[in-house]
Amino acid sequence: MAIAFDITENTQLAKDHFNQVAREQMRPISRKYDDQEHDLPTEWVDWWWKEGRKGAPGKYDGPQDGFVTVCVQAEELCWGDAGLYLRMPTPALGGSAVGAAGTPEQRDKFLKAFREDGQPIWGAMAITEPGAGSDSAAIQTTADWDEDAQEWVLNGTKIFCTAGEGASTVAGGFVVVWATVDKSAGRGGIKSFVVPANTPGMTLVGTEDKLGIRASDTATLTFDNCRVPGENLLGRREVKKQDPAKSAGDKGFKGAMATFDASRPVVAAMAVGVGRAALDFVKEELARQGVPLRYDAGPREQTALERDVIEMEAELQAARLLTWRAARLISLGKPNNLEASMAKAKAGLAVTGITQKAVELLGPVGYSKKLLVEKWMRDAKINDIYEGTQQINQLIIARRILDYPSAMLR
Ligand SMILES: Cc1cc2nc3c(=O)[nH]c(=O)nc-3n(C[C@H](O)[C@H](O)[C@H](O)COP(=O)(O)OP(=O)(O)OC[C@H]3O[C@@H](n4cnc5c(N)ncnc54)[C@H](O)[C@@H]3O)c2cc1C
Repeated sequence: MAIAFDITENTQLAKDHFNQVAREQMRPISRKYDDQEHDLPTEWVDWWWKEGRKGAPGKYDGPQDGFVTVCVQAEELCWGDAGLYLRMPTPALGGSAVGAAGTPEQRDKFLKAFREDGQPIWGAMAITEPGAGSDSAAIQTTADWDEDAQEWVLNGTKIFCTAGEGASTVAGGFVVVWATVDKSAGRGGIKSFVVPANTPGMTLVGTEDKLGIRASDTATLTFDNCRVPGENLLGRREVKKQDPAKSAGDKGFKGAMATFDASRPVVAAMAVGVGRAALDFVKEELARQGVPLRYDAGPREQTALERDVIEMEAELQAARLLTWRAARLISLGKPNNLEASMAKAKAGLAVTGITQKAVELLGPVGYSKKLLVEKWMRDAKINDIYEGTQQINQLIIARRILDYPSAMLR
């Protein structure tokens, strides 16, 4: 793979555009929707739908850089506000799941950018349950086949579903639900199902009060004899019993897991965006106070402050380069499972460290709600939790490097 450390001209144009969006549309309402966690940020949603996405470059640079541009967009918009980014009307993770596990026909059917009447579509992906988080093979939600009706019948509870409120209740939206069609088959029995918004039997029970990314809706959903057509099962229907010496069952589970190969680089980019927001602010503040930052000072002359800022810069840049590498592999159609986990693990650690250090360096005002820095510190931690925690991504990295199946390294 060719290594590129720069972005193309088109990606740079996209970066400038989304930075302007972040600066002008997101930052001014950032505090408002952090305070008003459960309110729909109508001005942002409406503006994005009517104006924001129009300004985005319509086509990317082709196979070389399409996914890098997606990551650059995520970095810029999360530099603006990570919670508002997650509240954007898009198919989001639900779309990634259809893209990763669906057949070409299913992609045509379910992957629509907007409704026929031109209104937006929200998507979400529901894996996590009260008894199954990191260990997604422990999923208890069931999907039973009704031969007469040619339908799947879903029963179970899903928690912490990002964008689950919009995806389950706004017409046109959809939730991709992971469920087992055969508990005795282990991972091999786990399949994903597209459940359209307002399908009878799917109920929005409530949304979480959270530490960070508070503008984003995080839902609990129940499924009580919730019926979907047979074709809403993504990928293959056959179940292969799981071989305990192998890491996964058939393509159904592997296909569903492949969602993360695309979504982890995006989460890593989001983390980089939040970290950069904090670092940029620290540097601006130091400049305003007339405190010099000497990047060329030797170790004996460097101040503690200079060392901290340089370390923050290095962590951020390392996370970004890992992210772009994982993204570029997607653009090239190459496997990126290892690289996606590396980017996610590094960026999750980097952003938590950088934002905490920013609060520390700014002194008491950094801890105050007068600034957004304390919010960025709260927004940072989620990047180390969802889409595979820090520990789980490190496990994946170790398995890939050592070539161990998950059954041997867990
Ligand atoms: C705001 C928010 C949004 C979310 N959005 C979504 C979403 O859209 N869809 C969705 O399905 N889920 C979502 N989640 C859930 C998230 O993916 C899970 O919280 C995460 O996978 C961890 O699962 P868990 O909470 O059950 O923790 P557990 O799996 O119980 O883990 C607890 C701790 O143990 C560690 N641990 C677990 N297993 C191992 C191991 N084998 N080795 C070492 N350490 C281990 C973990 O790293 C963690 O630190 C969201 C969560 C939050 C907080």
